[in-house]
Amino acid sequence: MEELLIEVKNYFMDMPTKHRSILLVGGLALFMILEQGIPFFEMTYNRTKHTLHNLFFTLTTILVNLPLAFLLLETSRLVGPEHYNFGVLNWIEMDLWLQMLVGLMLMDFIGAWLIHFIEHKIKVLWQFHVIHHTDQHVDTTSGNRHHPGESVFRFIFTALAIIVTGAPIWLVFFYQTMSLILTQFNHSNIRVPKWLDSFLVLFFCTPDMHRVHHHHRQPYSDSNYGNIFSFWDRIFGTYVKVDNEKLVYGVDTYPDAKDVESIGFLLKLPFVGYRKMIEYEKEEKL
Ligand SMILES: [Zn+2]
Repeated sequence: MEELLIEVKNYFMDMPTKHRSILLVGGLALFMILEQGIPFFEMTYNRTKHTLHNLFFTLTTILVNLPLAFLLLETSRLVGPEHYNFGVLNWIEMDLWLQMLVGLMLMDFIGAWLIHFIEHKIKVLWQFHVIHHTDQHVDTTSGNRHHPGESVFRFIFTALAIIVTGAPIWLVFFYQTMSLILTQFNHSNIRVPKWLDSFLVLFFCTPDMHRVHHHHRQPYSDSNYGNIFSFWDRIFGTYVKVDNEKLVYGVDTYPDAKDVESIGFLLKLPFVGYRKMIEYEKEEKL
């Protein structure tokens, strides 16, 4: 077991860029095939158009992250034992398996859950994050539909996560790999058997758990913020379980399909003013 973990560590220490691209494309292809075979909602929309649209935003996310990746690696080097020796993993001695677990948990909490939660609470940040929520047909391609500006906030929190964790390079790559796979998985429109979901959701964010986050009405979109691990939402009281069949995707403040299918509209969206939350007379019970 120890040997296997060392191999995993060595692999991520020197992960080829090519493998990262293969993972992105391969993951998308795998989940798209599964969506074809075991869809949760019937996919009646134009999938090609929808995919290309979301791939545009995936591409801009990659373009913004490329130059920033260098800063993440530099942060990881500087917190290391040869420099500042900063962060939980440098202060407390742990076996490799525990380093992986604690490292992954902390990185997921700060680099994903926390920034996601903040994006929902601060108006300026929400104006960027809302692009992710405007998708009216959530599937695996929605996972990386982000405004390029949002990548900057996420980058800051990933850097913060590296500092707090004291994450070495291999752990940063390990985390980013897990984060990508889980994003593709938990946005995918697949029907996971109930018994399997009940088990997986004890630890991980499954599609059944994440779907409600994309419901068009509040307060449901303010729940289940997690990406890799499901327990952050349970700990912070933002976990909900609903009947997924009743969900309607999108955001009620941007209900016009024509708008949210326009790349130009979405790119400009953070700069055109905040749309107030809609109040309903009757509360909804899903
Ligand atoms: Zn969100």
